[in-house]
Amino acid sequence: MKRLSIVTTNRIEIADITALIRQAIRDSGVLRGICTIYVPHTTSAITINENSDPAVKEDLTNILNKVVPADNKYLHTEGNSDAHIKASLIGASQTILVENGKPVLGTWQSIFFCEFDGPRTRSVLVKIISEK
Ligand code: ZN
Repeated sequence: MKRLSIVTTNRIEIADITALIRQAIRDSGVLRGICTIYVPHTTSAITINENSDPAVKEDLTNILNKVVPADNKYLHTEGNSDAHIKASLIGASQTILVENGKPVLGTWQSIFFCEFDGPRTRSVLVKIISEK
């Protein structure tokens, strides 16, 4: 298992980590298999989506903020209930295929780390399993 460190600079931030995952797969030496990317946090998430138009990330953030506003009446008193809910909606992990030592992604796909309660220093755990 490899632990990547991600430093976020805003409360909500969607960061492209595809290059880090490509490097982790290269470092593993695995040519064919699967790669699981997991965040051990309750207010961040992992998603795969379009990398070409930055408006897609902005739309995602805007709609999440509309559906789960920060200033709702929440029972959790830590002040970050919206971040917990956003994290659950997006999910804590993604699993991708590895072929020829590379992640199998569509032309427009990137892997994104989603921060919902930053800025913070976060961990992203990566496990790469080789096909026999
Ligand atoms: Zn909390």
